[in-house]
Amino acid sequence: MGKLRLWVMCKSCGREFDTRMRLDRKSFERGTLAANYHLCPHCGQRLTYRKADYLIQEEQPKSTITPPE
Ligand SMILES: [Zn+2]
Repeated sequence: MGKLRLWVMCKSCGREFDTRMRLDRKSFERGTLAANYHLCPHCGQRLTYRKADYLIQEEQPKSTITPPE
């Protein structure tokens, strides 16, 4: 099962960035993720984000790509 990449939209400048957090889906669903600090690479603001703020992307496995039939 692929991991989820957690992105957020910066509360200061409104741009999306990768928090570099990686969780599997179960951990994300079970986790509270109440308050995490993330530093925006665009504007340098370090702000707190909670679970509802995360934008989820499925991480694609790199080495085991099977072509579609
Ligand atoms: Zn920002």
